[in-house]
Amino acid sequence: MIEMNCTCVQKHHSIPTEVIEVSEHALLKVPDILNDYHRIFLVADENTYEVAGKQVESLLRNAGMLSHILILPSPALPNAENIGRVLIDAGRDREVYDINAYSLNPDYILAVGSGSVNDTCRMVSYRLGIPYGVVGTAPSMDGYASVVAPLLNWNRKIVYNCSIARHIIIDLNINAAAPYPLLLAGVGDMIAKYVAILDWEISRDLTGEYYCEKIANMVLEATGQCVDAAADLENRSMEAIRSTSTGLILSGECIAFCGSSRPASGTEHMVGQTWEVMDVEEGKVPNLHGIEVGEGTFMAIEMFRLLYQETDDAALRALIEKYLPAFDRVEALQKIIHLPFTVTDKDRFVEGVLRGRTFRERYTILQYLYDRDLLQSYAERVYDIVMKKHFFGTFKERFPDWEA
Ligand SMILES: [Zn+2]
Ligand SMILES: [Zn+2]
Repeated sequence: MIEMNCTCVQKHHSIPTEVIEVSEHALLKVPDILNDYHRIFLVADENTYEVAGKQVESLLRNAGMLSHILILPSPALPNAENIGRVLIDAGRDREVYDINAYSLNPDYILAVGSGSVNDTCRMVSYRLGIPYGVVGTAPSMDGYASVVAPLLNWNRKIVYNCSIARHIIIDLNINAAAPYPLLLAGVGDMIAKYVAILDWEISRDLTGEYYCEKIANMVLEATGQCVDAAADLENRSMEAIRSTSTGLILSGECIAFCGSSRPASGTEHMVGQTWEVMDVEEGKVPNLHGIEVGEGTFMAIEMFRLLYQETDDAALRALIEKYLPAFDRVEALQKIIHLPFTVTDKDRFVEGVLRGRTFRERYTILQYLYDRDLLQSYAERVYDIVMKKHFFGTFKERFPDWEA
């Protein structure tokens, strides 16, 4: 359990995570960290099995802690089919069959993989009431310690409550070897936080929503750490990998402390995830979460800048003004790393913004503009600005061979 006293109305925050291990060669510590468990069900996909799963499997087997493993086909989307596969397989116990055991179910689910595999296992863990943990394979998103997972069901992307990881194990050598698109996705998921916290502040002032300043500041600090490190990710500097990995984990922890993804997800996630959903609706494999969200961040930044120039609401201007230096830093970073975009068509871009407003029940700048009959025109104007200032090429052009 990780605990923190606070000055907000909750006074105290805690999460059930017991161990967060971020180090070089962290994989070797897996058996020690999980030594309370003896029937561990390991889930990976084809990619993450090669990268880390194989080694973890043999470590657990040698320690007599492995129940069995399941390798999902890559790319393993967090969809109903894969959740079903994990759920069905959870009861299979071929490696260790102990007739005296109270239950043949595993006593622990270990997700090997940072994105989809983790989200899939979190849902199964929640439904079965079996604790779970994650061995990360790339610093590509912040959902390790999160309380929710966006899952694909009924051709939609729906955010569900899920288990929080008991153990988060990040081997920096593995993260450092991750494909560059995954590193960029991690950056996209982190630059989002400036927008998310600003939205949260606006909602606090306009709707009276609960707000925790300590959590907000922790997320902002983690974001700053990631932005500083991002330019060095391409040359795999261990410090940059460490900063990005710990920043993403801290952001996830803050989601868990808060009990909602509010500190980590605002306008940019609602729009980026709507673009993901639009692909799902058309039967396409959605793009990397952090890449969509990164583009959504530039959309939101320009929306806020425009509103800052045009609004006569002094309180709102003052709030946005606090974040303008952060927006400038994100813009400067983009000139170096050229985060690729996936949506370049104006109609699609605007549709994502308009539909994004109701992606989930959450007050953001999108609702503010909608209530003033400004959302459509802002979406159209922001598209032109974003494409002119922040677009340096599409994801497909930059990474033509990327599949997962
Ligand atoms: Zn608090
Ligand atoms: Zn995210």
